[in-house]
Amino acid sequence: MSEIENVVSIGSGPAGWTAAIYAARADLKPVCFIGVPKTSPSIVLPGGQLMLTTEVENYPGFPDGITGPVMMDAFQKQAERFGTRVRGEDIVSCDFSSRPFTLTTSKGDTVQAKSVIIATGATANWLGLENEMRLARSGGGVSACAVCDGALPAFRDQPLAVVGGGDSALEEASFLTKFGSKVFIIHRRDEFRASKVMQNRIFNSKKAEPVWNKVVLDVLGDESITGILLKDTVTGEESTLDVKGMFVAIGHTPTTELLDGCGIDLDDKGYIKLETRFSNTNIKGVFAAGDVADSKYRQAVTAAGMGCQAAIDAEHFLADN
Ligand code: NAP
Repeated sequence: MSEIENVVSIGSGPAGWTAAIYAARADLKPVCFIGVPKTSPSIVLPGGQLMLTTEVENYPGFPDGITGPVMMDAFQKQAERFGTRVRGEDIVSCDFSSRPFTLTTSKGDTVQAKSVIIATGATANWLGLENEMRLARSGGGVSACAVCDGALPAFRDQPLAVVGGGDSALEEASFLTKFGSKVFIIHRRDEFRASKVMQNRIFNSKKAEPVWNKVVLDVLGDESITGILLKDTVTGEESTLDVKGMFVAIGHTPTTELLDGCGIDLDDKGYIKLETRFSNTNIKGVFAAGDVADSKYRQAVTAAGMGCQAAIDAEHFLADN
């Protein structure tokens, strides 16, 4: 019979590593499942979304900024320094019906745990067009992260498009106005969903231009994007817009497939529901932290804070049980 782990944390972003640091320092000898290494346009493991970020300038303590990958490497080293055991596998399914809990890895092994911290993050959504994915994979000017890629030379002084009408889209568009000659914001309605302050910033920008009531039907270009084919959602009319970059900002999907059928409550957007101000899920002994349980803030620093809470909550749970 294999050993029963005190704490298993799943995820290798700021939430997962911070949970591991705190659990390790509480002498709980955590195991951190960091995922099978993979790189796709929307997911990079280990490390998650910060691996797609160049400069992180808003994490306190780094006055000159730090790159996402360097930051995640430092988090991992800190977790390992206190005895976190790291496994480069995915957890593919969970059985939370009885304690200890049983987790199944991508290698088919099972792991038993007294407590589990889910910190699997979220991934950017795509429109799902064939040419969009082809050019995103090949680095042909299609991206789901303006902050990561917007400063590349290929986009300098070029017309660019951002797709979406929420805070992310307007934030990305605003960021891109520093580089592009023009930034078109393609939105499927005639009103943004984003906060008023972001809308005002866009409306006051000379370089940003909303393109209302349009959806992207196709992305044009062989080696790199040359334009996009649009369809008017009101008239059905099709048109092309010449752009040298397209940034998709239509929301994120939390990574919860591993929880299918295991009874964890999710909210109406598919994020893990937490007890207010705590990291407890509806199943005692199962905690969640970071973007998988946060559709609102989605920041490295908030994810790290949630990871800290989850480890402390797990520690209290283990002490009480
Ligand atoms: P969001 O608020 O869900 O907005 C997604 C946008 O994409 C919406 O405008 C939506 O259109 C559009 N969209 C969705 N699917 C689409 C599709 N298939 N084709 C075309 N358009 C599509 O997502 P978000 O902007 O990523 O923001 C998520 C959360 O994080 C929000 O609560 C937001 O306030 C927060 N956030 C805050 C900040 C900040 O405060 N600085 C920054 C970023 C995000 P519809 O409007 O028609 O639905």
